[in-house]
Amino acid sequence: MIQISALPAFTDNYIWLLQDQSSKCCAVVDPSDAAPVLAWLGENPEWTLSDILITHHHHDHVGGVEQLKRVFGATVYGPANEKIPARDVALKDNDRISVLGWDFDVIDIPGHTLGHIALYHQGVLFCGDTLFAAGCGRLFEGTPQQMYTSLTRLAALPADTLVYCAHEYTQSNLKFAQAVEPHNRDIAQRVEAVSQLRANGKITLPSNLALEKLTNPFLRTAETSVKEKADERNGRDNQGGSEVFASLRSWKDTF
Ligand code: ZN
Ligand code: FE
Repeated sequence: MIQISALPAFTDNYIWLLQDQSSKCCAVVDPSDAAPVLAWLGENPEWTLSDILITHHHHDHVGGVEQLKRVFGATVYGPANEKIPARDVALKDNDRISVLGWDFDVIDIPGHTLGHIALYHQGVLFCGDTLFAAGCGRLFEGTPQQMYTSLTRLAALPADTLVYCAHEYTQSNLKFAQAVEPHNRDIAQRVEAVSQLRANGKITLPSNLALEKLTNPFLRTAETSVKEKADERNGRDNQGGSEVFASLRSWKDTF
């Protein structure tokens, strides 16, 4: 049985901590900073850090890797097509790895960065900065078409999949979602729920794919009202999901 919890880092990053109770081994996903992980391990000395999983090369995802590797000798897994510090295992699309006894499938999801990967294990998804709760990552390296294809791939996973993304952006993403779909009741409900969580200082993650499909504009490009809004913003007749996506993404960049 593996337990997943969040170690907050910097202003809005989460480092996901995976704990295997039987072996007392743990793993972290995207350790932006070594300090919160070292602090947790200091308070929980019976646990050993055995594995480090990386979704993409940005500093706020790999900043703690070298120090953690030096202290614990953990195995570092990261995308094959990016420069990842201290990487031991280079991951390619459709690879399968075993971490803490869990099988993870590697899914290539270029867009935010060109080598970005997601890791999926039966209803659990670590997707870094690609799919966010109610939003998606910026296109720093890839094209809108690449990101659209990547999001489509993630959206095809089972609806009850839990989405463990790397940032607490849900509240601001929902403001944009409401601008795109002012009459969407699921979004309105989610705004309420998320405001309450944030007011109590609570995390809004993980999300799940079913909820994302109801409230995330970037997964809703096939909805007529979303297409029409994108057309209106863009002053053109967007053809197909990828163009609607591109219009929404560039609107969000300046929202
Ligand atoms: Zn990033
Ligand atoms: Fe990030």
